[in-house]
Amino acid sequence: MAMWNPWRGCKKCSEGCLHCYIHKGDAKRGINTNEIVKTKEFDKPLIKSKNGNYKMKSGLVYLCFSTDFLIEEADEWRSECWKMIKERQDCTFLFLTKRIERFMDCIPDDWGKGYKNVVVCCTIENQQNADRKLSLFQTLPIRHKCITAQPLIENVEIEKYLQGIELVVVGGESDYRARPLDYSWVLNIREQCIRQGVSFEFRQCGTHFIKDGKWYKLKTKNLRNQAKKANIDIKLKELY
Ligand code: SF4
Repeated sequence: MAMWNPWRGCKKCSEGCLHCYIHKGDAKRGINTNEIVKTKEFDKPLIKSKNGNYKMKSGLVYLCFSTDFLIEEADEWRSECWKMIKERQDCTFLFLTKRIERFMDCIPDDWGKGYKNVVVCCTIENQQNADRKLSLFQTLPIRHKCITAQPLIENVEIEKYLQGIELVVVGGESDYRARPLDYSWVLNIREQCIRQGVSFEFRQCGTHFIKDGKWYKLKTKNLRNQAKKANIDIKLKELY
């Protein structure tokens, strides 16, 4: 899979952003994350090698994983990105957003029911944002929809929003001040997915993790493999 970050920088916009790893990493390097700037790889999908082939390989492309594809500051650049996405039909472009309310203002004129090679993941972290964002998300013209509940900071009921969703990803927060993740919340979302026939993935534990009422403090390097050890993922069909 490939990564494509046509711009960098992001602004905190929801409770889930509190310990954003992009902000933390930039702070260490003295970079101002709030400044949104185009990167050198802006036109990465269209760059070709000497033999005329695209340098970026076919398949899944993680788009804007160090920013937000729908951030307002990138409005003037996004239409060019859509053109590149349309041209690269051999790639599937997947982006996460905490700004789903901006979606209809950000799509190209020929979007229709959605480009077939675009996957949109709406992120939520608590019940209030789940209700606000997912009630809108379910009405949007998008061919491939996922929900990312990470960092999950409380128990959430999302079953009524799962129709048309292909995958729900759940994860905890990574930070020494992280808000805890209770495993019962993870299992609860998993049960909701099972009832609605939606694929489910437990992506990572939280630094502070509660299981059966016991608190654990986990090392960052173990967050993902501990989640995999739980062996509770459900893959109902091949995605992308
Ligand atoms: S939207 Fe994502 S990248 Fe932007 S500040 Fe929030 S957590 Fe960080």
